[in-house]
Amino acid sequence: MGVSVIRKKSRTALGKSNLPGVDYTLNPYTGCMHGCVYCYARLYCPQEVGEGWGAVVIVKENIAEILAKEIRKKKKGRVMVSTITDAYQPVERNERLTRKVLEMLLNSGFRVSIQTKSDLVLRDLDLLTQSKLADVGFTITTLDEKLAKEIEPNATPPQRRVRALERLSSEGVKTWIFLGPIIPELDESEIKEIIEIARFTSSMLYYDIYRVKSFMKTGIEGILAEKARKMNWKTITTKIREICHRRGVKVASAFWY
Ligand code: SF4
Repeated sequence: MGVSVIRKKSRTALGKSNLPGVDYTLNPYTGCMHGCVYCYARLYCPQEVGEGWGAVVIVKENIAEILAKEIRKKKKGRVMVSTITDAYQPVERNERLTRKVLEMLLNSGFRVSIQTKSDLVLRDLDLLTQSKLADVGFTITTLDEKLAKEIEPNATPPQRRVRALERLSSEGVKTWIFLGPIIPELDESEIKEIIEIARFTSSMLYYDIYRVKSFMKTGIEGILAEKARKMNWKTITTKIREICHRRGVKVASAFWY
């Protein structure tokens, strides 16, 4: 699938955050080439991006200049990179916006939390290991490479995410795993495997249920939505917490379930 890249100027860099423990959000791009079928970030993007989810990306070409002004004025705090895009999606390889803003934030004493599905984050290992202000979370929804290709078509395959997580952890970077959304296909043995990865990388595990949204009508997202409606989420999330407690892995709900 071809991707249309649009370059635009942004008026702001740091956004207000409603996430617990997070002061600011920063999204260097609008839209995401990873194109996850369940991604509801599309609902918070302009129509041209949301409707062609995965096929249209806006590059905020002046974000570093805007950020330079904002960090002189704003109170220091924790910045979540990113919330409605993936800062290490393929377009970042050449654009390098994420690297620029990461360097600026860390040099200015802001804490940075990165959430990604891409092992391109390893390119910035030098910045991440120099500073104790950064942590990196990998989203792992399944370890099944075939299913991952269907639901997260252009993201780094799960095993490569796991290897990147191991590398970051072994280099002393604080890491975490986001098991979300919990794919209704996930069975207990796979959940245990993901928790085991959290254990041996000393990563905290956050989870979130599969939230059914209006666009999940057809295709695999429609099928998953149907299954999600019938799931007993209380049982599943209790099971996840129990396994984590048994294996000594810190666990929390990403939102409220
Ligand atoms: S990587 Fe994240 S932001 Fe990108 S499509 Fe997937 S869920 Fe959405």
